[in-house]
Amino acid sequence: MNPNVLIELHDVGKSFRAADGTARHVLEHVDFTLKEGEIVALLGKSGSGKSTLLRIMAGLVNADQGTVTYRGQPVYGPASGIAMVFQSFALFPWLTAQQNVELGLEAQGVPAAERAKRADAVLDLIGLGGFGGALPRELSGGMRQRVGIARALVMNPDVLLMDEAFSALDVLTGETLRDDMLELWDESRISTKGILIVSHNIEEAVMMADRIIVFDSDPGRVRSQVLIGLPRPRDADSPQVRALIDEVYALMTMRPAHGVPTPRQQGLGYRFPQTEVERMEGVLDVLAEAPFNGRADLPKLAEEAEISDDDLLPACEALGLFGLAQIDRGDIFLTPLGQRYVQAEQGQKQAIFGRQLLAHVPLAAHIRHSLEQEPTGALPEKDFLDSLEEFLKPDEAERVLKIAVEWGRYGEIYGYDYHTGLLTLPVREAA
Ligand code: ADP
Ligand code: MG
Repeated sequence: MNPNVLIELHDVGKSFRAADGTARHVLEHVDFTLKEGEIVALLGKSGSGKSTLLRIMAGLVNADQGTVTYRGQPVYGPASGIAMVFQSFALFPWLTAQQNVELGLEAQGVPAAERAKRADAVLDLIGLGGFGGALPRELSGGMRQRVGIARALVMNPDVLLMDEAFSALDVLTGETLRDDMLELWDESRISTKGILIVSHNIEEAVMMADRIIVFDSDPGRVRSQVLIGLPRPRDADSPQVRALIDEVYALMTMRPAHGVPTPRQQGLGYRFPQTEVERMEGVLDVLAEAPFNGRADLPKLAEEAEISDDDLLPACEALGLFGLAQIDRGDIFLTPLGQRYVQAEQGQKQAIFGRQLLAHVPLAAHIRHSLEQEPTGALPEKDFLDSLEEFLKPDEAERVLKIAVEWGRYGEIYGYDYHTGLLTLPVREAA
């Protein structure tokens, strides 16, 4: 066994049972190694299994396949050297910051005096000296997340797993906290030997990590890896950082590898990018106008349109799916149809949108087809939710249907009544 290896995953797979009993493969053939001294960032679409992977590493969830080891030992249950930080602060509201931080130590039977001392030291370290007595509601979001991090650090974890730990914070607060964490790490003021961060912010990953893993979805697996190899602290505006950000954008928006089923083949189980019509049209408009005039580098587009990666990437993917834009090596450009779209008047836009929706989104086609089969031309949304729940968790099914409804109404391929929850054929055609 290599003494520098902290966590090692070999051929890990995980499925969840859907409502109808069929298995949904969330992770497949995942190989991954976290070594001493490195920060690794994991990037991937929402739903690609990143959180599940972290939980497997932490021993909170078991893999169905493959092996997971921590310092050479198989992981069966929660490993004491591994700590996790979540996106939501998950603090106990009735406990003070200090009490929240002490919880893990208490569970380990550490005596009160030592607990207090360690919690104090860690609160100091993370910039919360003097706030130990505050209740979570008395703290800002950034400070609450600092408590969350303190709670992990007080255990002196060997490995720290951070699941979108900075995402719920506003940009500036997130960056400050991120830089503070890096400083603690780079100056070896924490005992942690390896950090894995899940992020949906490409710049964040490039600024923090020694190595970036890009994840594929459905099923989740490692698509590619980018070595960063720049000293920290890094300058976000330096050409090296910009070039790496470019490279990662290109990887993130690459077409899935050959052999991945098309949306049509995936049918109702196809998880289309979740984005709103306004967002898609907003991106199209920025893309069409100067300075881009139809072709843009994705990071520049993100900057110009002032939207975050987790909003931009699904919007771009949806534009690709609808045939309005194409993405190639980190650049996005309008297709001829996209050109026509941006110049079209409202009614024509909606007609193009509806046509492309029917052609490329199986769920929308299924809804339309089902309504056409109904003598009344109407069906309760519940019917469609039930079919979706064969593939997705209930809250996901709801979100997916909501987007499909919004898209379908815009494209006028069906209507929806908020009072009755009925999906209907458009009035014009039903009459
Ligand atoms: P990510 O963190 O990349 O957004 P997750 O790991 O949270 O992805 O989820 C990946 C997929 O696994 C999702 O489709 C989610 O619905 C499914 N999933 C996660 N946990 C469960 C569970 N306990 N039961 C059923 N499905 C789950
Ligand atoms: Mg997640």
